[in-house]
Amino acid sequence: MTSRAADHDRLTIVVAAFNEAESLPSLHPRIAAVLDALDGVEGRVLYVDDGSRDGTWDVLRGIANGDARVSLLRLSRNFGKEAALTAGLDQVERGAAMILDADGQDPPELIPQFVARWREGYDDVYGTRTVREGETWLKKATAHAFYRVMQRLSKTPIPADTGDFRLLSPRALAALRQLRERHRFMKGLFGWVGFEQVAIAYQREPRLAGTSKFSFWRLWNFALEGITSFSTAPLRLATYLGVLTALAAFVYALWIVAKALLWGDAVAGYPSMMAVILFLGGVQLVALGMIGEYLGRLYEESKQRPLYLVDSWRPGLGVSSDRV
Ligand code: UDP
Ligand code: MG
Repeated sequence: MTSRAADHDRLTIVVAAFNEAESLPSLHPRIAAVLDALDGVEGRVLYVDDGSRDGTWDVLRGIANGDARVSLLRLSRNFGKEAALTAGLDQVERGAAMILDADGQDPPELIPQFVARWREGYDDVYGTRTVREGETWLKKATAHAFYRVMQRLSKTPIPADTGDFRLLSPRALAALRQLRERHRFMKGLFGWVGFEQVAIAYQREPRLAGTSKFSFWRLWNFALEGITSFSTAPLRLATYLGVLTALAAFVYALWIVAKALLWGDAVAGYPSMMAVILFLGGVQLVALGMIGEYLGRLYEESKQRPLYLVDSWRPGLGVSSDRV
Protein backbone atom coordinates (compact mmCIF):
# COMPACT_ATOMS: atom_id res chain seq x y z
CA MET A 1 0.00 0.00 0.00
CA THR A 2 1.34 3.37 -0.93
CA SER A 3 -0.07 6.63 0.23
CA ARG A 4 0.84 9.60 -1.84
CA ALA A 5 0.38 12.71 0.24
CA ALA A 6 -0.41 14.88 -2.77
CA ASP A 7 -3.56 12.88 -3.48
CA HIS A 8 -4.83 13.21 0.04
CA ASP A 9 -5.61 16.89 0.02
CA ARG A 10 -9.17 16.97 -1.24
CA LEU A 11 -12.40 15.14 -0.53
CA THR A 12 -15.64 15.66 -2.40
CA ILE A 13 -18.89 14.47 -0.84
CA VAL A 14 -21.23 13.37 -3.62
CA VAL A 15 -24.91 13.29 -2.75
CA ALA A 16 -27.63 12.11 -5.15
CA ALA A 17 -30.98 13.63 -4.28
CA PHE A 18 -34.39 12.84 -5.69
CA ASN A 19 -37.28 14.69 -4.04
CA GLU A 20 -35.35 15.31 -0.84
CA ALA A 21 -36.37 18.92 -0.16
CA GLU A 22 -37.36 18.03 3.40
CA SER A 23 -34.17 16.18 4.37
CA LEU A 24 -31.50 18.36 2.78
CA PRO A 25 -31.86 21.43 5.01
CA SER A 26 -31.08 19.34 8.08
CA LEU A 27 -28.47 17.18 6.37
CA HIS A 28 -26.25 19.90 4.96
CA PRO A 29 -25.32 21.56 8.28
CA ARG A 30 -24.19 18.17 9.54
CA ILE A 31 -21.97 17.65 6.48
CA ALA A 32 -20.65 21.21 6.73
CA ALA A 33 -19.75 20.76 10.39
CA VAL A 34 -17.81 17.59 9.63
CA LEU A 35 -15.94 19.21 6.73
CA ASP A 36 -15.08 22.23 8.90
CA ALA A 37 -13.46 19.91 11.41
CA LEU A 38 -11.53 17.85 8.83
CA ASP A 39 -7.83 18.36 9.25
CA GLY A 40 -5.52 18.66 6.27
CA VAL A 41 -8.18 17.85 3.69
CA GLU A 42 -10.08 20.38 1.64
CA GLY A 43 -13.71 19.33 1.78
CA ARG A 44 -16.20 19.98 -1.00
CA VAL A 45 -19.77 18.92 -1.57
CA LEU A 46 -21.52 18.10 -4.81
CA TYR A 47 -25.27 17.66 -4.83
CA VAL A 48 -26.80 15.97 -7.84
CA ASP A 49 -30.47 16.74 -8.31
CA ASP A 50 -31.78 13.66 -10.06
CA GLY A 51 -34.73 15.36 -11.77
CA SER A 52 -36.61 16.09 -8.55
CA ARG A 53 -40.19 17.28 -8.83
CA ASP A 54 -40.47 18.92 -5.42
CA GLY A 55 -38.52 21.97 -4.29
CA THR A 56 -35.18 20.15 -4.09
CA TRP A 57 -33.44 22.37 -6.65
CA ASP A 58 -34.46 25.58 -4.89
CA VAL A 59 -33.38 24.16 -1.54
CA LEU A 60 -30.04 23.18 -3.06
CA ARG A 61 -29.54 26.64 -4.54
CA GLY A 62 -30.17 28.12 -1.13
CA ILE A 63 -27.59 25.80 0.40
CA ALA A 64 -25.03 26.64 -2.32
CA ASN A 65 -25.55 30.36 -1.81
CA GLY A 66 -24.70 29.97 1.84
CA ASP A 67 -21.70 27.65 1.44
CA ALA A 68 -18.94 28.31 -1.11
CA ARG A 69 -17.85 24.66 -1.07
CA VAL A 70 -21.13 23.43 -2.52
CA SER A 71 -21.47 22.69 -6.25
CA LEU A 72 -24.71 21.65 -7.87
CA LEU A 73 -25.52 19.43 -10.79
CA ARG A 74 -29.00 19.00 -12.13
CA LEU A 75 -29.92 16.19 -14.50
CA SER A 76 -32.43 16.69 -17.29
CA ARG A 77 -34.83 14.19 -15.73
CA ASN A 78 -34.92 11.41 -13.15
CA PHE A 79 -32.28 8.92 -14.30
CA GLY A 80 -32.18 6.87 -11.10
CA LYS A 81 -29.73 6.85 -8.24
CA GLU A 82 -27.01 4.90 -10.01
CA ALA A 83 -26.88 7.30 -12.97
CA ALA A 84 -27.06 10.31 -10.66
CA LEU A 85 -24.09 9.03 -8.67
CA THR A 86 -22.19 8.37 -11.87
CA ALA A 87 -22.87 11.93 -12.98
CA GLY A 88 -21.58 13.21 -9.66
CA LEU A 89 -18.46 11.05 -9.63
CA ASP A 90 -17.68 12.09 -13.22
CA GLN A 91 -17.43 15.67 -12.00
CA VAL A 92 -14.85 14.95 -9.34
CA GLU A 93 -11.55 16.05 -10.78
CA ARG A 94 -9.15 15.62 -7.93
CA GLY A 95 -8.86 13.80 -4.65
CA ALA A 96 -11.21 11.24 -3.21
CA ALA A 97 -14.99 11.05 -3.42
CA MET A 98 -17.37 10.04 -0.68
CA ILE A 99 -20.89 8.90 -1.49
CA LEU A 100 -23.67 9.76 0.93
CA ASP A 101 -27.46 9.37 0.82
CA ALA A 102 -29.45 12.58 0.91
CA ASP A 103 -31.93 11.29 3.48
CA GLY A 104 -29.49 11.15 6.39
CA GLN A 105 -29.50 7.36 6.58
CA ASP A 106 -25.73 7.39 6.17
CA PRO A 107 -24.50 9.53 9.07
CA PRO A 108 -22.05 12.23 7.86
CA GLU A 109 -20.47 12.17 11.32
CA LEU A 110 -18.62 9.02 10.26
CA ILE A 111 -16.76 10.75 7.42
CA PRO A 112 -13.58 11.30 9.50
CA GLN A 113 -13.34 7.54 10.06
CA PHE A 114 -13.51 6.94 6.31
CA VAL A 115 -10.88 9.60 5.71
CA ALA A 116 -8.60 8.04 8.31
CA ARG A 117 -8.76 4.67 6.52
CA TRP A 118 -8.10 6.39 3.19
CA ARG A 119 -5.03 8.04 4.69
CA GLU A 120 -3.85 4.61 5.78
CA GLY A 121 -3.79 3.73 2.10
CA TYR A 122 -7.13 2.06 1.44
CA ASP A 123 -8.85 2.75 -1.88
CA ASP A 124 -12.39 1.67 -1.21
CA VAL A 125 -13.65 2.28 2.32
CA TYR A 126 -17.23 1.08 2.54
CA GLY A 127 -19.84 1.22 5.26
CA THR A 128 -21.38 -2.06 6.36
CA ARG A 129 -24.75 -1.83 8.06
CA THR A 130 -25.03 -3.51 11.40
CA VAL A 131 -28.48 -2.24 12.27
CA ARG A 132 -31.12 -1.06 9.84
CA GLU A 133 -33.56 1.03 11.75
CA GLY A 134 -36.91 2.11 10.43
CA GLU A 135 -37.06 -0.67 7.86
CA THR A 136 -39.55 -3.52 7.83
CA TRP A 137 -38.43 -7.07 8.62
CA LEU A 138 -39.52 -8.04 5.12
CA LYS A 139 -37.09 -5.57 3.56
CA LYS A 140 -34.31 -6.73 5.85
CA ALA A 141 -35.00 -10.39 5.10
CA THR A 142 -35.14 -9.92 1.34
CA ALA A 143 -32.02 -7.77 1.38
CA HIS A 144 -30.24 -10.49 3.37
CA ALA A 145 -31.34 -13.17 0.92
CA PHE A 146 -30.33 -11.03 -2.03
CA TYR A 147 -26.75 -10.60 -0.85
CA ARG A 148 -26.40 -14.32 -0.19
CA VAL A 149 -27.73 -15.23 -3.65
CA MET A 150 -25.47 -12.65 -5.29
CA GLN A 151 -22.43 -14.02 -3.53
CA ARG A 152 -23.26 -17.48 -4.79
CA LEU A 153 -23.94 -16.48 -8.39
CA SER A 154 -21.29 -13.91 -9.09
CA LYS A 155 -17.55 -14.21 -9.37
CA THR A 156 -17.20 -10.52 -8.50
CA PRO A 157 -16.87 -10.08 -4.73
CA ILE A 158 -19.84 -8.09 -3.44
CA PRO A 159 -19.74 -7.56 0.32
CA ALA A 160 -23.02 -8.18 2.14
CA ASP A 161 -25.10 -5.41 3.75
CA THR A 162 -23.13 -2.77 1.96
CA GLY A 163 -24.74 0.13 0.22
CA ASP A 164 -23.28 3.06 -1.63
CA PHE A 165 -21.99 4.72 1.54
CA ARG A 166 -18.29 4.69 0.77
CA LEU A 167 -15.11 6.60 0.08
CA LEU A 168 -13.21 6.06 -3.17
CA SER A 169 -9.55 6.96 -3.55
CA PRO A 170 -8.50 8.82 -6.69
CA ARG A 171 -7.31 5.66 -8.42
CA ALA A 172 -10.43 3.68 -7.52
CA LEU A 173 -12.47 6.59 -8.82
CA ALA A 174 -10.51 6.70 -12.06
CA ALA A 175 -11.03 2.96 -12.49
CA LEU A 176 -14.74 3.22 -11.83
CA ARG A 177 -15.06 5.95 -14.43
CA GLN A 178 -13.88 3.56 -17.10
CA LEU A 179 -16.89 1.32 -16.56
CA ARG A 180 -19.49 2.91 -18.78
CA GLU A 181 -22.12 0.20 -18.92
CA ARG A 182 -25.73 1.37 -19.11
CA HIS A 183 -27.03 -1.05 -16.56
CA ARG A 184 -25.16 0.10 -13.54
CA PHE A 185 -25.26 -2.13 -10.54
CA MET A 186 -22.96 0.04 -8.45
CA LYS A 187 -22.27 -2.43 -5.65
CA GLY A 188 -20.97 -4.84 -8.24
CA LEU A 189 -18.96 -2.21 -10.07
CA PHE A 190 -17.19 -1.20 -6.85
CA GLY A 191 -16.36 -4.84 -6.21
CA TRP A 192 -15.12 -5.33 -9.75
CA VAL A 193 -12.67 -2.44 -9.41
CA GLY A 194 -10.92 -4.10 -6.48
CA PHE A 195 -7.82 -2.46 -4.94
CA GLU A 196 -7.48 -2.24 -1.18
CA GLN A 197 -10.89 -2.46 0.42
CA VAL A 198 -11.91 -2.14 4.02
CA ALA A 199 -15.25 -2.09 5.82
CA ILE A 200 -16.48 0.28 8.48
CA ALA A 201 -19.45 -0.98 10.50
CA TYR A 202 -22.19 1.53 11.16
CA GLN A 203 -25.79 1.76 12.20
CA ARG A 204 -28.10 2.74 9.40
CA GLU A 205 -30.44 5.40 10.70
CA PRO A 206 -34.06 5.96 9.73
CA ARG A 207 -34.79 8.53 7.04
CA LEU A 208 -34.87 12.17 8.18
CA ALA A 209 -38.05 12.81 6.22
CA GLY A 210 -40.09 11.52 3.33
CA THR A 211 -40.31 7.92 2.20
CA SER A 212 -37.98 5.51 0.46
CA LYS A 213 -37.86 5.88 -3.32
CA PHE A 214 -37.36 2.18 -3.66
CA SER A 215 -40.64 0.31 -3.69
CA PHE A 216 -40.68 -3.45 -3.63
CA TRP A 217 -41.12 -3.61 -7.36
CA ARG A 218 -38.13 -1.34 -7.83
CA LEU A 219 -36.05 -3.42 -5.44
CA TRP A 220 -37.01 -6.59 -7.29
CA ASN A 221 -35.88 -5.06 -10.56
CA PHE A 222 -32.75 -3.88 -8.81
CA ALA A 223 -32.05 -7.46 -7.75
CA LEU A 224 -32.59 -8.70 -11.31
CA GLU A 225 -30.23 -5.98 -12.46
CA GLY A 226 -27.56 -7.17 -10.06
CA ILE A 227 -27.85 -10.78 -11.06
CA THR A 228 -27.93 -10.22 -14.81
CA SER A 229 -25.15 -7.64 -14.71
CA PHE A 230 -22.75 -9.78 -12.76
CA SER A 231 -23.61 -13.35 -13.51
CA THR A 232 -24.57 -15.55 -16.43
CA ALA A 233 -25.49 -18.38 -14.08
CA PRO A 234 -29.21 -18.22 -15.01
CA LEU A 235 -28.30 -18.96 -18.63
CA ARG A 236 -26.35 -21.97 -17.53
CA LEU A 237 -29.23 -23.01 -15.33
CA ALA A 238 -31.38 -23.23 -18.46
CA THR A 239 -28.81 -25.55 -20.03
CA TYR A 240 -28.73 -27.85 -17.02
CA LEU A 241 -32.49 -27.86 -16.78
CA GLY A 242 -32.65 -28.84 -20.45
CA VAL A 243 -30.14 -31.65 -20.00
CA LEU A 244 -32.00 -32.91 -16.95
CA THR A 245 -35.42 -32.97 -18.64
CA ALA A 246 -33.96 -34.57 -21.76
CA LEU A 247 -32.44 -37.34 -19.62
CA ALA A 248 -35.68 -37.87 -17.76
CA ALA A 249 -37.60 -37.92 -21.04
CA PHE A 250 -35.20 -40.50 -22.48
CA VAL A 251 -35.57 -42.83 -19.51
CA TYR A 252 -39.34 -42.40 -19.62
CA ALA A 253 -39.39 -43.15 -23.37
CA LEU A 254 -37.40 -46.35 -22.83
CA TRP A 255 -39.89 -47.39 -20.19
CA ILE A 256 -42.88 -46.72 -22.47
CA VAL A 257 -41.38 -48.67 -25.38
CA ALA A 258 -40.45 -51.57 -23.13
CA LYS A 259 -43.90 -51.57 -21.63
CA ALA A 260 -45.55 -51.57 -25.07
CA LEU A 261 -43.34 -54.41 -26.28
CA LEU A 262 -43.79 -56.56 -23.20
CA TRP A 263 -47.41 -56.01 -22.34
CA GLY A 264 -48.89 -54.42 -25.45
CA ASP A 265 -50.20 -50.89 -25.65
CA ALA A 266 -53.68 -49.97 -24.54
CA VAL A 267 -53.84 -46.31 -25.64
CA ALA A 268 -54.01 -44.32 -22.47
CA GLY A 269 -52.19 -41.54 -20.77
CA TYR A 270 -53.96 -38.29 -21.60
CA PRO A 271 -53.35 -36.90 -18.09
CA SER A 272 -49.67 -37.79 -18.09
CA MET A 273 -49.25 -36.38 -21.60
CA MET A 274 -50.87 -33.09 -20.63
CA ALA A 275 -48.72 -32.89 -17.52
CA VAL A 276 -45.54 -33.41 -19.51
CA ILE A 277 -46.50 -30.94 -22.26
CA LEU A 278 -47.46 -28.24 -19.79
CA PHE A 279 -44.35 -28.78 -17.74
CA LEU A 280 -42.06 -28.59 -20.75
CA GLY A 281 -43.91 -25.56 -22.09
CA GLY A 282 -43.37 -23.80 -18.76
CA VAL A 283 -39.71 -24.68 -18.61
CA GLN A 284 -39.19 -23.46 -22.16
CA LEU A 285 -40.90 -20.15 -21.49
CA VAL A 286 -38.82 -19.58 -18.37
CA ALA A 287 -35.63 -20.32 -20.27
CA LEU A 288 -36.73 -18.01 -23.07
CA GLY A 289 -37.46 -15.29 -20.52
CA MET A 290 -33.97 -15.64 -19.08
CA ILE A 291 -32.42 -15.29 -22.51
CA GLY A 292 -34.70 -12.30 -23.04
CA GLU A 293 -33.40 -10.59 -19.92
CA TYR A 294 -29.87 -10.76 -21.22
CA LEU A 295 -30.87 -9.90 -24.78
CA GLY A 296 -32.71 -6.80 -23.58
CA ARG A 297 -29.63 -5.64 -21.73
CA LEU A 298 -27.48 -6.29 -24.77
CA TYR A 299 -29.90 -4.17 -26.77
CA GLU A 300 -29.76 -1.30 -24.28
CA GLU A 301 -26.00 -1.48 -24.27
CA SER A 302 -25.73 -1.49 -28.05
CA LYS A 303 -27.56 1.82 -28.34
CA GLN A 304 -24.62 3.56 -26.70
CA ARG A 305 -26.68 6.37 -25.29
CA PRO A 306 -25.11 8.63 -22.70
CA LEU A 307 -25.69 7.52 -19.11
CA TYR A 308 -27.32 10.81 -18.15
CA LEU A 309 -27.92 14.31 -19.46
CA VAL A 310 -27.05 17.44 -17.54
CA ASP A 311 -29.56 20.26 -17.28
CA SER A 312 -27.42 22.70 -15.36
CA TRP A 313 -24.11 22.84 -13.58
CA ARG A 314 -23.42 25.34 -10.82
CA PRO A 315 -19.88 25.23 -9.53
CA GLY A 316 -19.49 26.32 -5.92
CA LEU A 317 -18.64 29.95 -5.31
CA GLY A 318 -15.28 28.83 -3.97
CA VAL A 319 -14.67 26.36 -6.79
CA SER A 320 -12.73 27.79 -9.71
CA SER A 321 -12.60 25.06 -12.33
CA ASP A 322 -15.52 23.69 -14.31
CA ARG A 323 -15.36 20.46 -12.38
CA VAL A 324 -15.32 20.00 -8.63
N1 UDP B 1 -32.24 8.69 -5.26
C1 UDP B 1 -31.89 9.29 -6.46
N2 UDP B 1 -32.62 8.97 -7.59
C2 UDP B 1 -33.67 8.10 -7.56
C3 UDP B 1 -33.99 7.47 -6.32
C4 UDP B 1 -33.24 7.79 -5.21
O1 UDP B 1 -30.97 10.08 -6.55
O2 UDP B 1 -34.27 7.88 -8.59
C5 UDP B 1 -31.45 9.02 -4.05
C6 UDP B 1 -32.29 9.49 -2.88
O3 UDP B 1 -32.53 10.87 -2.94
C7 UDP B 1 -31.41 9.11 -1.71
C8 UDP B 1 -30.72 7.84 -2.19
O4 UDP B 1 -30.82 7.85 -3.61
O5 UDP B 1 -30.40 10.09 -1.47
C9 UDP B 1 -31.32 6.60 -1.57
O6 UDP B 1 -32.69 6.57 -1.83
P1 UDP B 1 -33.73 6.01 -0.79
O7 UDP B 1 -33.45 6.59 0.56
O8 UDP B 1 -35.08 6.25 -1.33
O9 UDP B 1 -33.41 4.45 -0.79
P2 UDP B 1 -33.29 3.49 0.48
O10 UDP B 1 -32.43 4.19 1.50
O11 UDP B 1 -34.66 3.27 0.97
O12 UDP B 1 -32.65 2.25 -0.07
MG1 MG C 1 -32.69 5.99 2.24
